[in-house]
Amino acid sequence: MMERKQTRPVRVGNLVIGGGAPIVVQSMTNTDTRAVAATLGQIEALAAAGCELIRVAVPDQEAAAKLKEIVRYSKLPVVADIHFDYRLALAAIDAGVAKIRLNPGNIGGADRVRTVVRAAKANGVALRIGANAGSLHRDYLTRYKGDVIQAMLASVEDQLALVTADGFDQIVVSLKSSDVVETIEVNKAFAKRWDFPLHLGITEAGIRWRGTIKSAVGLGILLQQGIGDTIRVSLTGDPRHEVTAAYEILKALHLREHGPVVVACPTCGRCQIGLEELVEGVEELVQDLPYPLHLAVMGCVVNGPGEAARADLGIAGGKEAGLIFRNGEILRKEKQPRLLPAFAEELARLIREKYGVNLKFNQADFRLEELEEEEGGKS
Ligand code: SF4
Repeated sequence: MMERKQTRPVRVGNLVIGGGAPIVVQSMTNTDTRAVAATLGQIEALAAAGCELIRVAVPDQEAAAKLKEIVRYSKLPVVADIHFDYRLALAAIDAGVAKIRLNPGNIGGADRVRTVVRAAKANGVALRIGANAGSLHRDYLTRYKGDVIQAMLASVEDQLALVTADGFDQIVVSLKSSDVVETIEVNKAFAKRWDFPLHLGITEAGIRWRGTIKSAVGLGILLQQGIGDTIRVSLTGDPRHEVTAAYEILKALHLREHGPVVVACPTCGRCQIGLEELVEGVEELVQDLPYPLHLAVMGCVVNGPGEAARADLGIAGGKEAGLIFRNGEILRKEKQPRLLPAFAEELARLIREKYGVNLKFNQADFRLEELEEEEGGKS
């Protein structure tokens, strides 16, 4: 187990970022914040996917005016992204948000920063400050002769000087770039100097597959070195994919548990079954299950059970049939199209034995459903 860098704890609503707390998975809505129902709907969907902290854009007073209602009904602590206008920060604090994202260097002077910090302190609101390589002020780049890492550090350190002037320390820092290596270097350099918790992300990472890879490489390397207290995987599209990707990164590094891990072989000339379809079926079956099981879908019965011996439960495909195995031991053989339903039955049995939860496979919805209420004799 890697040792995590010790950072100071920052309270954000009912969460703690830093101080050794579990790494927080966050995302951002892409709805118009003024459309309250749509925004709350997206927050609910993200919470169901496992998101723990949600950021909303607050570009103007009209959006700020909707924050009260969003905060009131949101299932997650809300972060207001207010960009440059300190009045929006004050309105957001007044609306009850848990954290404000702002750039203290861009909100019109030290007095305004002090006003926002004082309000944040009085209301138990955290601040996120930071630098983005793409939008760094030219002065920093000139001062450091184009050295982006040093320029970003200097920008953040100037911001820190402003917001900590009166002893405020509920601050999360982000240092982002669309360049993975730059992101790694600047976060490592910051973590050497400071103990403020770090929000990690690769900015403008791109469409789903490209953004996921860039984020997994950048965030993975930092997290493996014990750096990072909250993560956002920025992807173009449905933000629920950001949450799924974030958990896959954290699960791969044994930093968080979040539902089953499904492994699948790449297939080779031995495979005589439609493996991709089988894997998709298993993924669909387990997508809402909270149990941290290790599941395997393998292409052949010759090597599959052996190669996936560490799996709690697995399928090894044969010719129009397959084996279901548990911890490397073969449980049963099933012909297609019975293979997936049989796997679901064995999975339900495993969950019952391991977690004491009664599930039943509903073939029509392709879901494992809890049985308890029905068995309790309601009707
Ligand atoms: S499990 Fe079988 S089909 Fe899959 S890669 Fe290994 S040998 Fe090939």
